[in-house]
Amino acid sequence: MSGDLTPPAGDFAGARDADARRGGRSGGREFEVDVLLTGIGQLVTPEGPGPHRGPAQGRLRRVDDAALAIVRGDVAWLGRAADWRGRAVRTVDLGGRAVVPGLVDPHTHLVWAGDRYDDLEARLAGESYEAILARGGGIRHTMRATAGADRATLVRLAGARLGALVASGATTVEVKSGYGGGVAAEIASLGAIAELAAGARVRVVPTLLIHVPDPDDRDGHLRDVVERLLPEVAARALAWRVDVFVEASAFTVAEAERVLRAALELGLDVTLHADQFHRVGGVELAARMGARSVDHLEASGPAQIAALAATGGKTVATLLPGASFELGTPHAPGRALIDAGVPVAVGSDLNPGSSPVYATSLALALALRLNGLRPAEALTAGTANAAAALGLRDAGWLGPGARADLVVVPDRDARALVAGLGGPRPLEVWAAGRRVFPAATAYDGWRA
Ligand SMILES: [Zn+2]
Repeated sequence: MSGDLTPPAGDFAGARDADARRGGRSGGREFEVDVLLTGIGQLVTPEGPGPHRGPAQGRLRRVDDAALAIVRGDVAWLGRAADWRGRAVRTVDLGGRAVVPGLVDPHTHLVWAGDRYDDLEARLAGESYEAILARGGGIRHTMRATAGADRATLVRLAGARLGALVASGATTVEVKSGYGGGVAAEIASLGAIAELAAGARVRVVPTLLIHVPDPDDRDGHLRDVVERLLPEVAARALAWRVDVFVEASAFTVAEAERVLRAALELGLDVTLHADQFHRVGGVELAARMGARSVDHLEASGPAQIAALAATGGKTVATLLPGASFELGTPHAPGRALIDAGVPVAVGSDLNPGSSPVYATSLALALALRLNGLRPAEALTAGTANAAAALGLRDAGWLGPGARADLVVVPDRDARALVAGLGGPRPLEVWAAGRRVFPAATAYDGWRA
């Protein structure tokens, strides 16, 4: 982590001119902001919106002895504290700690009911994840339990999981449906996600996931997805993105392409689960369709890396090290992807079966060990590049024009957030200029 921010010369994006407000007597060099964070020992951030690829993925800006000013939930100014000239309604001294952008978790499955403890026992006894799925366990077990839960229960369960991710530093969290199955059940899951988003104090990005085929009526299921589910989701703006699980045990490339084409025609972003267990062409399809991200890649090799590199950074490779750690599969080739110029993001993949990772920061720490990322690259993967995977430009970095989403690291060195396994946890997490952790709750809609 190296490089310095040039001290900004009065670039107060959005800051109020206190003199002007009082009648504009003077030249207006005194600005008033809502909150001024001082005592920032080290502020470390990607240089701007992602994706950042190749050597740029590991290039971060750093300001020592920094201050950061917030107006209406956005960053209005940041620089060396000694250069601050203005007034603040409230000043918060962070006591010399490091500050990084709020983490962006670009891949989670928070909405489920039931548990997968029996599956875990079976896997520990030697049965494979795919064998358990084939006999009706795994995802299918979770789908039955989710179908049996009412919306209030789903929202409450998802809210508790969201709170865990926020406590680890996440201020933007993608949430997928996908444990519903049929049209009505998927709409119900997306309704639960909308309720979660409305009550949350962090940003929730909803994704429709077409997860596993209907074993009794594969064609009818796909027809329902394309002709009924996608149009309703688009018309009601229930999801930003559409995702399909392309895998030997799930959907074929041709089936996924049919869904993605329909989604693109409706103006929805597309993404894929691809190459988790087998190379069946999902990564190539994502590159060909201009997907914003393609996620997993544990089975990807040189041809898939080359296909992604050829998109020129349009498609982000989102790695989910919790899944390969949990299932004992090969780890995704993060080092080779970065060296080939592919922007890499990392997510928790929080789900009950294949990645019970309840901390976004832990996924970044695993990416250092399992995918060959360096700490600075992992920080970009969990911030600006993850935001780019979701199509967001105002998150994942800090500077005028970005939301005031940030993590106060309980250390003077920002690397502490990704160096430890499950800790140290953030001292504070701020989203849109408000402290959301620790707080009474990170989720306003929480009800027993
Ligand atoms: Zn997933």
